[in-house]
Amino acid sequence: MRANCVSVVEINAARIRIADHVRRTFVEPSVSLSERAGQPVHLKLEHQQITGSFKLRGAMNAILSLDDAALVRGIVAVSTGNHGRALAYAARAAGSRATICMSELVPQAKIDGIAAEGADIRIIGKSQDEAQREVDRLVAEGGLTMIPPFDHRDVIAGQGTLGLELLEDVPDLATVLVQLSGGGLISGVAAAIKARKPEARIVGVSMERGAAMYASLVAGRPVEVEELPSLADSLGGGIGLENRLTFSMTMDLVDDVILLSENEIAEGIRHCYAKERQIVEGAGAVGVAAVLAGKVSAQGPLALILSGGNIDLAEHQRLVCGGMT
Ligand SMILES: *Cc1c(COP(=O)(O)O)cnc(C)c1O
Repeated sequence: MRANCVSVVEINAARIRIADHVRRTFVEPSVSLSERAGQPVHLKLEHQQITGSFKLRGAMNAILSLDDAALVRGIVAVSTGNHGRALAYAARAAGSRATICMSELVPQAKIDGIAAEGADIRIIGKSQDEAQREVDRLVAEGGLTMIPPFDHRDVIAGQGTLGLELLEDVPDLATVLVQLSGGGLISGVAAAIKARKPEARIVGVSMERGAAMYASLVAGRPVEVEELPSLADSLGGGIGLENRLTFSMTMDLVDDVILLSENEIAEGIRHCYAKERQIVEGAGAVGVAAVLAGKVSAQGPLALILSGGNIDLAEHQRLVCGGMT
């Protein structure tokens, strides 16, 4: 196994390590999307995960892999929201404490969610990279352990547990649509699924506005893109110019990438609410949006992930009502 690739052995170990702390979320068929796609479509309802996103899987696995001394010194991370919330929860579950640094672009609902989990919060600058510099300082001066949101073996292995569950629940899946930002989710899910079913197609879905991994794949190396506000705010942020794992794993394991406009993402959120009866955030709806936009050419059963549900409810209401006038 290549050193810069997380293996299914690590993902299986993660599954055992986190089993008592995460929910095994349900997979449901979608009648309306199956009609639209002309193939059976299955939704993994991961927005119903504890803390409202799959990020708990990676955070829990990384924290439970630390020794006692590190747990006493505490955890620190930069986050667009869901990773911070997951780390705050996981740190507390492991008897530790998390300090979360984030940029000014993070919506208030997410900040409130993280504070409610008992984390210390620091708001720094206008980009994830600026917040990262504060994390580096706390690591150097306070001895805290940084757990990054995606480019970390234990985080990727934790996210991969979602792929193991999905393949068990939809054994005949042919294509999986996976949200693509830093690439932790897609790297773990692709490693888990392709280890058992190499012919399965893994397709990344990003927004058009500031898709750093897509730009990096095109360039053949990690590049920076301008960070812009998007309905899919959880997909914002760079992949890190020093990316160690997720860039090469995404390059190796991902078959295709779909990009979506803001209007298409809004349609996805509306569809989840009106037809699936699910409240999902923008990032959580991009798989649905890709099917609705006719951008998926699937042969055989299609699986997609509702990856998160942490959306400001006033914004959700505005989007949903806007679609009905
Ligand atoms: C973090 C996140 C993603 C993207 O995951 P990456 O590992 O950064 O690619 C997708 N959806 C939601 C809800 C998230 O919180």
